[in-house]
Amino acid sequence: MTIAREHAGDRRVAAVEVKIGHLRQVVPSALSLAFELVADGTVVEGAELRVEEIPARVACRECAAERRVTEFPFLCAECGSLDVEVIAGDELLVDALELEDAVAVAR
Ligand SMILES: [Zn+2]
Repeated sequence: MTIAREHAGDRRVAAVEVKIGHLRQVVPSALSLAFELVADGTVVEGAELRVEEIPARVACRECAAERRVTEFPFLCAECGSLDVEVIAGDELLVDALELEDAVAVAR
């Protein structure tokens, strides 16, 4: 939450939006607890934590198909190739801060 504090300055933060890729295997309740611990005593204290989970997607290097995947091993649903590149799902970032009277994008 260092990012959140730097961008908020002295203003109180109403909400923090984070994007978490499916591949991160983050447990939402554990994240909420960790958030409360680091936010305690800062401008982020009491802010609402909004978590958006990003589904995993892969792009096939053989046939260029892009598909959502839900489990290992990752393979192309079109041609069955295992030569795929993960293009989404490994995110772990603060997407936006909602300050008391404005929204600041943290990227
Ligand atoms: Zn393919």
